[in-house]
Amino acid sequence: GFRCGIVGLPNVGKSTLFNALTETAAAQAANYPFCTIEPNVGQVAVPDPRLDDIARIAGSAKIIETQLGFVDIAGLVRGASKGEGLGNQFLGNIRECDAIIHVLRCFEGEVTHVEGKVDPIADAETVETELMLADLESLEKRVPAFQKKATQGDKESKIAASVLGEALELLREGKPARLTKPKDEDEKRIFEQAQLLTAKPVLYVCNVDEGAAADGNALSARVFAKAEAEGAKAVIVSAEIEAEIVTLDPADRADFLADLGLKETGLARVIRAGYDLLHLQTFFTAGPKEARAWTIPMGAKAPQAAGAIHTDFERGFIRAETIAFADFVAFKGEAGAREAGKLRSEGKEYVVHDGDILLFRFNV
Ligand code: GDP
Repeated sequence: GFRCGIVGLPNVGKSTLFNALTETAAAQAANYPFCTIEPNVGQVAVPDPRLDDIARIAGSAKIIETQLGFVDIAGLVRGASKGEGLGNQFLGNIRECDAIIHVLRCFEGEVTHVEGKVDPIADAETVETELMLADLESLEKRVPAFQKKATQGDKESKIAASVLGEALELLREGKPARLTKPKDEDEKRIFEQAQLLTAKPVLYVCNVDEGAAADGNALSARVFAKAEAEGAKAVIVSAEIEAEIVTLDPADRADFLADLGLKETGLARVIRAGYDLLHLQTFFTAGPKEARAWTIPMGAKAPQAAGAIHTDFERGFIRAETIAFADFVAFKGEAGAREAGKLRSEGKEYVVHDGDILLFRFNV
């Protein structure tokens, strides 16, 4: 599955956020009791109100949300790229993630700050510098090797030398590798395979005190300005409030949120932002047994969607009977949609839309 790595300096609230995320998942998704793969990895149900509509219309006995993985990556300090703190282990953990959730301390107070003062922009730069140094060091080794092989006529190495050479130039200028512009599909493929830390998409999470949970504060405003300048995203969360919410009876949560001026939990926002960050989308399957959400990359075609359910579905794919979510609701389910001519039979080349309700026809 897809994974977001939670990074940040020590004492900024990463573990508080991670624990709240995974406990909420356990409390909310009865069908997916929080399963610990590794102590710091959790699968979190992606909240999607469309599932309730589908289950109601299709008379489904249960709802199964799609999931997103979160990894609590501890141990980043200044010097991590040189092996300080948990150093290399930390960087390896990030490499395995598809996106980075960067928690920044935007609360004042007694909690010890590892750098001695509360400054989320300086903190962000400290972490980014470590990631850039790690990429720089890795490319300083790899690019010359590719260049050498390229001169011996190796085609792949020539492509790698070109696109990774560009990334190396950017890093030498103190810029992240994500600004690299691959020139074609081959360069894009090789760039992705290189798994550079600073090529991964980033979401800034501003961890604020309770009083600032709805509108943020001066510190989070600076983070939002930084995110905007970089074309990145930011959200405001109070990790402490989230940790409190998970201890409440689900029936009391809405009132608690309303009292704080919040419409939904910060966790719901983080999960959705993570989903957006990874360019993921959802399709549904619906029947009397269950209404279920599935995750696929945006742009995926029907057979790939079938493969998210089972590899046999992808291999034996024939067609996908497709109803758009809005039509499913407007015509009150499959029979109504079929009658209204809104059930389409789509083939191999169909690009799945977010919210499609699919039924696969396949050979076994
Ligand atoms: P980590 O090292 O980044 O994983 O940080 P932790 O989640 O362990 O949090 C470090 C300390 O900061 C803990 O004592 C938390 O209770 C505290 N903390 C986390 N979020 C907040 C917050 O929003 N406000 C305040 N005042 N303290 C917080």
